[in-house]
Amino acid sequence: MEQQVMGQVSDVRRRIPRTDAVLRDPRLVDAVVRLGPGPVKAAVRQAQERARHGALDPEEVADTAVALLPRAAGGLRPVINATGVLLHTNLGRASLSAAARQAVQDAAGPTDVELDLRTGVRARRGRTALDALRGRVPSAAAAHVVNNGAAALALAATALAAGREIVISRGEMVEIGDGFRLPDLLVSTGARLREVGTTNRTTAEDYAAAIGPETAFVLKVHPSNFRITGFTRAAGVRELAALDVPVVVDIGSGLLAPHPLLPEEPDAESRLRAGAALVTASGDKLLGGPQCGLLLGDADLVRTLSRHPLARALRVDKLTLAALEATLTGPETPTAAALTADADRLMRRAERLAAALGATGADDVRAVACAATVGGGGAPGVTLPSAALSLPEPYAAVLRTGPVPVVGRLEGGRCLLDLRAVPEEDDERLADAVRSAVER
Ligand SMILES: *Cc1c(COP(=O)(O)O)cnc(C)c1O
Repeated sequence: MEQQVMGQVSDVRRRIPRTDAVLRDPRLVDAVVRLGPGPVKAAVRQAQERARHGALDPEEVADTAVALLPRAAGGLRPVINATGVLLHTNLGRASLSAAARQAVQDAAGPTDVELDLRTGVRARRGRTALDALRGRVPSAAAAHVVNNGAAALALAATALAAGREIVISRGEMVEIGDGFRLPDLLVSTGARLREVGTTNRTTAEDYAAAIGPETAFVLKVHPSNFRITGFTRAAGVRELAALDVPVVVDIGSGLLAPHPLLPEEPDAESRLRAGAALVTASGDKLLGGPQCGLLLGDADLVRTLSRHPLARALRVDKLTLAALEATLTGPETPTAAALTADADRLMRRAERLAAALGATGADDVRAVACAATVGGGGAPGVTLPSAALSLPEPYAAVLRTGPVPVVGRLEGGRCLLDLRAVPEEDDERLADAVRSAVER
């Protein structure tokens, strides 16, 4: 009996097709063009291995290898953000608009990022993106773009304050997330911090008393991920601008102009009008663009920063410049659309999805009202009325690991799929993902 089984196994092994034979399957030939030979061979070997263990018929090796192929050449998976956190740092913050995606695609080959095609002479790198930025922030005499918000601050501190002092309120010595502490970054550039005031109260007089020959600039940092309430006081940019040293304002979220739904969120234009010499911000928060850091303001200061040797180490690539410009000049960003989405309409979408899913066998799926947040270091304390699909909690993991990963949130023992950050055109994909989770 045992011998017979062994005989069958070795017979099966002999019938397993060789790698080069499997690779002649037209679907796998196409895959090599798309993905390169490495991942395709790995899929074939995995399928052969399964057949060797008897988990698969030898005839099924090619089909299985095709099924095992990675979807794309990279490891990053597109996911549906149903967390209800509009700018989720772990999900890459802002989702680019269709225009910005197209711009990235178009810039992927050779582009005129640093060449004037008319004259054939080298030109200012990313000039159209910088012009677009200044177009949106009229009070900025000049603009510069670096890798992210932290890089913008690092460049400002290095170029303007290395070996000198940055005056900063004790209430604004903040940690942005995951151990990133702004004071540590500033000190790492060789600047010294001159702390003034207290955690809850700092006045213009506190700043004035600390300013001296060693002062490079006063830094105002937006406490973008927490709120202090109660007996508090902070000096405004206008008061500080009267102190005769440059005021640098880290607004964080990248709002260029005031937003009616976010009255407490600082914006670049208002801060410059109030007298800030320089504003720093992220590109992938409320601005809704690619990861980058914006520096806006006084022409001499911006020139000093952009000509500093460190600027080269922090410069952005053409893809970022392309995405940023399209974000600035193009249609409404997904972030802006999510921010202003109408709560009743979100509820109607949730009800429609719940009904459609119920009709196809998902029996414990309900539409519920909930609250979304901005997240990503912006608008702390602001909640946005939203609507979600509510499912049994175990679905959270199943949905996350499905063919189209959906990331929801757990609340009250249920898995909520919040629709505020899900573009309406993704509703069908979301429904398909839930259906496939129900079947698994
Ligand atoms: C987010 C944030 C930063 C860091 O910006 P990154 O783009 O994440 O590097 C710095 N300061 C403030 C106030 C922020 O909100």
